[in-house]
Amino acid sequence: MKIRKVDLIHIVLSIKEPFVTGCGVVGDRHVIVTKLYADQGVGFGEVDCNFDPIYSYETTGTTLHILRQWVIPRVLGKEISEPAELVAMIEDIRGHNMAKSGVELAFWDVYSKVKGETIASLLGGERKAIISGVSVGMQDSIQRVIAECEGFLEKGYQRLKIKVRPGKDVEVIRALRRRFPDVMMMADANSSYRLNRPGDMDALRALDEFNLMMIEQPLQDDDIVWHRHLQKQLKTPICLDESIHTPDDAKKAIELGSCGVINIKVSRVGGLIMAKRVHDICQEAGIPVWVGSMLESGVGEAYNIHFATLENCTFPGDVAPSDRYFTDDIIEPLCEIHKDGTIDVPSVPGMGFAVNEEKLRKCTVETVTVA
Ligand SMILES: [Mg+2]
Repeated sequence: MKIRKVDLIHIVLSIKEPFVTGCGVVGDRHVIVTKLYADQGVGFGEVDCNFDPIYSYETTGTTLHILRQWVIPRVLGKEISEPAELVAMIEDIRGHNMAKSGVELAFWDVYSKVKGETIASLLGGERKAIISGVSVGMQDSIQRVIAECEGFLEKGYQRLKIKVRPGKDVEVIRALRRRFPDVMMMADANSSYRLNRPGDMDALRALDEFNLMMIEQPLQDDDIVWHRHLQKQLKTPICLDESIHTPDDAKKAIELGSCGVINIKVSRVGGLIMAKRVHDICQEAGIPVWVGSMLESGVGEAYNIHFATLENCTFPGDVAPSDRYFTDDIIEPLCEIHKDGTIDVPSVPGMGFAVNEEKLRKCTVETVTVA
């Protein structure tokens, strides 16, 4: 298969309500949709970087630069037989995993259709539906968080992930545990605690008492070692998210005992091939994983759904239906969550959803074509 050109489509999705986490506020969501034209078909992917370099150094600006100048020229016009070959062609470009994933995912879309097999099946996944949990942003009051969670549980979500940071942690989780004693619950700190900052360890030890499934990324985004020290002091498993960018990162974290769980974000590790490698390393080591999300459009979420069909994706993930964050989505049909908290895995080859080109056009800020 030969790639002829790629459109990089910078879109903005209108958010229903700003999403507040331990590393900032996500408002209207800027992402880059990739439209890849190959000699055997057209595919869509997504780069779900943020507009600002807060969660990651990758932004819409860096992504456009790296893809236009480095990633896409490497693969244009070359014979590429499978996604792993494409990944090998761009592997020496350091970092910029989200940018790389945008091209890799769009390639999967075409490749899977050419093969006549679903992406889940090509990856080795067997589930027909995946279980969705919800990620709950910070609110002004504990009452509002509780009310939000009640609404989400009524919709069917099976697990609550509560965003926390120093000062917005123990009281919130205590109140939620009291209200929902048996619900699967976890906390995500988005790197907002420090081992040596007064009060932070007290708060983390207090969180240890609420029967949480895990505490996600409590310490620095680039750390693996301090998390080891912390894990030794907590009985709740630590889940690493921001710290894991490569299969090697996962190996180091496992070897050091820095975590009991890993959150795999397909884009953060550079696409489905790398995500599968992280998944397999964890599986071999007996470390369960789950699929994180980045407030993607439906295009990005589609690939998360395929990936979540893999056996070691043990816990409900953050994969969100189309109506979770945004006023509208660009895919058809919209992605929906059932009353039992499941989301169907598309049964057709390719991404599994169509892109509504009219909606895509309406939210497009800029299109850069690389040919
Ligand atoms: Mg996280």
